[in-house]
Amino acid sequence: MGFSVTFLGTGGGRHTTMYQTRSTGGMLMRHAGGRIHMDPGPGALVQMRRIHYDPALTDSVIVSHAHPDHYSDAECVIEGMTLGGWKKRGSLYGSPTVIEGEGSLGPCISRYHLNVVGRAAVIRPGDELDVDGLPVGICRADHSDPTNVGFKMRTDAGIVSYVSDTSYSEEIARQYEGSRVLILPVTTPWGLRIPYHMCSEDAAMFAAAVKPEAVVMTHFGIVMIKRGPAREAAEAEAASGVRTIAAEDLSTLDVGDSVSVGRARAYDDDWIPPSSI
Ligand SMILES: [Zn+2]
Ligand SMILES: [Zn+2]
Repeated sequence: MGFSVTFLGTGGGRHTTMYQTRSTGGMLMRHAGGRIHMDPGPGALVQMRRIHYDPALTDSVIVSHAHPDHYSDAECVIEGMTLGGWKKRGSLYGSPTVIEGEGSLGPCISRYHLNVVGRAAVIRPGDELDVDGLPVGICRADHSDPTNVGFKMRTDAGIVSYVSDTSYSEEIARQYEGSRVLILPVTTPWGLRIPYHMCSEDAAMFAAAVKPEAVVMTHFGIVMIKRGPAREAAEAEAASGVRTIAAEDLSTLDVGDSVSVGRARAYDDDWIPPSSI
């Protein structure tokens, strides 16, 4: 069956998000047991409509941390998953700030929405989840939301990891050993490192440390977008020796016998989004 990831959005950071220079709608992941919507930030609903994806198809929603580029469409995505809140179904996973709130961050999901899902769970580094039959390991991040986490998805096509927002260190990277594909948030271009995020040079170091078959870059800040993510990916690839691809909005990563990234397919050609009810 393999594993696929449709990038609803590839933007990240404040300015890309507030101006929607690129969408920040997160990723739809399809595996043998179901569909996950990871980090549904602003733009998720609009982008799902564009590819004729009915949000009722989603089985699990995961929110890595309490920053708006990762959570702000989550409540409406949950309404889609629960057929407008009428059917208690699906799972919601979130870090402590997302579900419970901690310090000045969160909670990000209303009590109403926590109650309409089949189950809501707080996730922490070291947890091993069973997401609709998909084993997912939870990893530590070094981010301005200290509860942020990364994900190691043990798919039937190998380990595909989504490293959510973090600064680079060898210790962070080592957690992802054995990954076949690394999805890395690369907010800034080479030579422009900002705290708690990665630049292209960090992506190259990450790739060299883990040695996956491919790296897919996403979560581009405004300066990165101006500089050209594809050019930055080529530069990172030259430095690491690992195939590196810059994702685009509405592109799909397919992991099967080979690893490829292409234009997102319409999910269901027959499903027409209701235009007026
Ligand atoms: Zn972010
Ligand atoms: Zn963040």
